[in-house]
Amino acid sequence: MSLPTEQNEAAAEAQSCPAPAAGEISPFDLERLDIVAVGHVDHGKSTVIGRLMADTGSLPEGKLEQVKLMCKQNARPFEYAFLLDALKNEQAQGITIDTARCFFNTPQRHYIIHDAPGHVEFLKNMITGASRAQAALLVIDALEGVRENSKRHGYILSMLGIRQISVLVNKMDLLDWDQTKYDAIVTEYADFLGRLGVHPTSFIPISARDGDNIVARATAAPWYDGPTVLEQVEDFKLLDDDLDRPFRMPLQDVYKFTEAGDDRRIFVGTVETGRVRPGDDVVFLPSGKHSTVATIETLSGPRPDEAFAGQATGLTLDTQVYAKPGELLVRADQPEPLMATRIRANIFWMNSAPFVRGRRYVLRMGAARVAAELEEVLSVLDEQELESVIGAGQVERHMVAEVILRAVRPVAFDAAATLEPTSRFVIVHGWDTAGCGIALEALEDKGRGDVTGRSFRRGDVSEAEREASYGHRGKAIVFVSRSGEAAHAVAARVERGVFARGVHSYCLGAADLGDDKDILGREAHLARVGEIAWAMTDAGIVLVASLGDVDRFDLDRLRRLAAPHEVYVVGLDAGEELGADLEVAPGATADEAAEQALRALTAADILPAG
Ligand code: GDP
Repeated sequence: MSLPTEQNEAAAEAQSCPAPAAGEISPFDLERLDIVAVGHVDHGKSTVIGRLMADTGSLPEGKLEQVKLMCKQNARPFEYAFLLDALKNEQAQGITIDTARCFFNTPQRHYIIHDAPGHVEFLKNMITGASRAQAALLVIDALEGVRENSKRHGYILSMLGIRQISVLVNKMDLLDWDQTKYDAIVTEYADFLGRLGVHPTSFIPISARDGDNIVARATAAPWYDGPTVLEQVEDFKLLDDDLDRPFRMPLQDVYKFTEAGDDRRIFVGTVETGRVRPGDDVVFLPSGKHSTVATIETLSGPRPDEAFAGQATGLTLDTQVYAKPGELLVRADQPEPLMATRIRANIFWMNSAPFVRGRRYVLRMGAARVAAELEEVLSVLDEQELESVIGAGQVERHMVAEVILRAVRPVAFDAAATLEPTSRFVIVHGWDTAGCGIALEALEDKGRGDVTGRSFRRGDVSEAEREASYGHRGKAIVFVSRSGEAAHAVAARVERGVFARGVHSYCLGAADLGDDKDILGREAHLARVGEIAWAMTDAGIVLVASLGDVDRFDLDRLRRLAAPHEVYVVGLDAGEELGADLEVAPGATADEAAEQALRALTAADILPAG
């Protein structure tokens, strides 16, 4: 998926507070943990961040003194928030600040604090995976308590799936560090967050201004024996490394060896998570094709013995497998991904035209591109209203929503809670990336997915009357081959044979379903073939059709569209997993294949004897 990752990372880098210049340890040698800081304006978020940077010695040398001096010259009291502003301004250099990042180091870790979480750009980055925060600090003002914005923050944290959250009850100095008052705030806030499905890891009473319980312990609160803010962040867990997760590689392309007689294929993609080695059993999903990795290929140099997360790689397989770009390659010995046509998801909508029902979009998930629709809006969170609205019919621009998506064919993916890199998707409308999101759950397939309800009315001539008059029943016989040309050559011959028996027949080659790039066009074409199959069969005609380059999901759809009439599928060279009713022996000429098909169709009583 070509998400705007690198650009965003680079832009964010350019406008962030500097990485600490002090200290000899390079941040690259350390573990890295990304933290989001959220809080209602003026509750003290900037002060907390400024304090963390200052008190861990992570500021550029002389910065603190410089800002203090500036304050003195302007006769203003020093604020840690000014320090942060100064750092950000220095870095911004004319770029609009969308997301700001600050850094601090401890001997164990390099921390990145993302400081603009309510912002559209931040949400987009989090959902597309450009930013990956694993923990959050939620700052609240002890005097002001729960605000409307707090609700939005809580909801966003839960939507983004951030599970490690510490609530910092700030400005405790204004409450004279009163334990009873603090306990009351904790109870109220825990209850409020609990209703949003957020269960904080800890609550910490702090005074950011005075630096109490940030790095140094608050002497005024001997009753508090929990962690300081720094102790808490040091205690946040790093989520599983991508390398240790199950192997997932969206199949971007299939290259053929060009040398004569070499029919091997190289399966190309970027490994999202995990690792794979020669000898590993692998499965393409959703097609379910199995094989074993033979080699790992690179453009030059020796063949590596492993491909791992983050690498663009090419694999060859032990057996000849016909897999199409768009599938998800996984290891057979690891937890399976989900597969579904109906997906419960959180989305963030960016297009000026709202996300509505009844319109076709393209869902891009991994390398898969599938026609999809909005089935239902479960709830939306409006940026202006700051409210979660249940029962909205559509999703407006810059809204975060929980929705059910319905694709015309199954997609393989993971749930965000299990493996978030392969849970991400974007929704394309026309040429635009209109929305992005994370998949939460695979829902039960309701089967008739895209059959929109047939709007035809028939006359009174019954099927039985037609059969009595024509001497045969209507039937759709579809020839399928990797090449539409080859399928059509056989179909035309078969129709000639059928027609010669006095059967009312018609041959229709829908050989070229259209470019794979034009997903919606292809799906619409297939739907037309399905409608034609239905109408002709209903008219008592034997339709002999040909299709090129389809898979079993296309055929499922065709069958659904033609129902209640049955479709008889003849596979020419399209592979067993297609589930064809008849497989013609490989290597047969068009004439032989047609002969074989006619014999089988007669034996199956589909055609009258010749
Ligand atoms: P932000 O908008 O959340 O980033 O808030 P700031 O960090 O800019 O702080 C807002 C105001 O609250 C500033 O005037 C700070 O000096 C003040 N403030 C921050 N932390 C404390 C604190 O612990 N105690 C008191 N009394 N004031 C604080």
